[in-house]
Amino acid sequence: MMKYYIQIFGCQMNYSDAERFAAKLEELGYKKAADDKEADLIVLITCSVRKSAEDRVYGAINNYHKKKLYPNLKTIILSGCMALRPEVLKKENKADIFMDIKNLNSLLKILKQKNKPAKFGDYFSVKPRYESKFTAYVPIMTGCNNFCSYCIVPFVRGREESRPVEDIISEVKGLIRNGYKEIILLGQNVNSYSPKLGARSSKQKITDFPDLLEYISKLPGNFWLRFITSHPKDLSDKLIRVMAKNKSARGGSAFGGKICEQINLPAQSGDDQILRKMNRHYTVAHYKNLVKKLRKNIPGIAISTDVIVGFPTETKKQFENTIKLFKEIKFDMAYINKYSSREGTAAARLVDNISKAEKVKRAAALNEILKIGALESNRKFIGQTLEVLVEKRNRKGDWAGKARTYKVVKFKSSKNLVGKFVRVKITKAENFGLVGELTK
Ligand code: SF4
Repeated sequence: MMKYYIQIFGCQMNYSDAERFAAKLEELGYKKAADDKEADLIVLITCSVRKSAEDRVYGAINNYHKKKLYPNLKTIILSGCMALRPEVLKKENKADIFMDIKNLNSLLKILKQKNKPAKFGDYFSVKPRYESKFTAYVPIMTGCNNFCSYCIVPFVRGREESRPVEDIISEVKGLIRNGYKEIILLGQNVNSYSPKLGARSSKQKITDFPDLLEYISKLPGNFWLRFITSHPKDLSDKLIRVMAKNKSARGGSAFGGKICEQINLPAQSGDDQILRKMNRHYTVAHYKNLVKKLRKNIPGIAISTDVIVGFPTETKKQFENTIKLFKEIKFDMAYINKYSSREGTAAARLVDNISKAEKVKRAAALNEILKIGALESNRKFIGQTLEVLVEKRNRKGDWAGKARTYKVVKFKSSKNLVGKFVRVKITKAENFGLVGELTK
């Protein structure tokens, strides 16, 4: 029997794509390989967002060409963002098939024809082979219309396409039936979900993302609901209302409704001029106002962000504004990225004038402020009992899971509690996590 192995680079969207890829390969008779060494077919689900991510893909492909290490390997499929970039296609001798994930339904044909693009198929209709037994990523849309000046996503993923409401709900209901505890709705910008665009009309009268979120949060079952990610220009008061209302909604646990008190809201910069150059369409004041509204209406909400340091022309003073934003907001978590130019984007036409050393320095400075703010926020949980979804056992033998706020919680237990909701009394706060004791 032919065996496959999937290597994932980049974002959660790619994890979701990989689950669909795995399901399709198994439908075609492939079996999951224990590791890449025994695979006949390797799929790389790639990411182009940062140059470092692309470099890792090149490294992996070069490695797979070492015959002695990979004696069974016959086919390498390159999918995800990089498969659609012309400069990658030029190196096509490195992979056997360059495949747009949207063609997944035609995989058999593509495998037979090796790289002849088949008819467009709706890849959302491929039922994924979920990697986890308790957490599932459910894509609600693909593509992006925003064209942030540094981002390659709209060029490689294409324009926004919303998934039909009925499909999403049917996938979510199936997950609930199968006992899934955490459902994460995925989209490059969930706030612009619009089932009228590229989707069948909905009987549920769901016209936007808050409607969809509310509908799912009212489905019976014992599960948490999260979503990523939200563009600050599109986050509506309606969404905040739905999240706030859910806290006291029926059907949640003693700890709150099904929608978790957590949001990722990428700020990208704390300086208005840089935000303009990034084509983000909001100001720092708008961003701060959103945070204020979120915190006022959803007490205890954890806010994480994404930020880019060293964007072309970013002066020290402009960077100081980002420092100021971090000090003021006190994020619970931040994904701090050093700017790297992506060919084909608008920002690539600007001179990447901030040195690597300066970018490293700026990222480290932000990280220090983040640590202080996150620790302060974590200390508030000491003495509280939190609901935790157990994920795994770490190297030290402690169990680790996530709280509703997406904070990592560690505790000791003699039992394997993976995939279960437990209650943990917090005894210690760390910079990016909590430690506690299991309670009854
Ligand atoms: S919103 Fe901006 S950063 Fe996010 S995927 Fe779209 S273009 Fe890229």
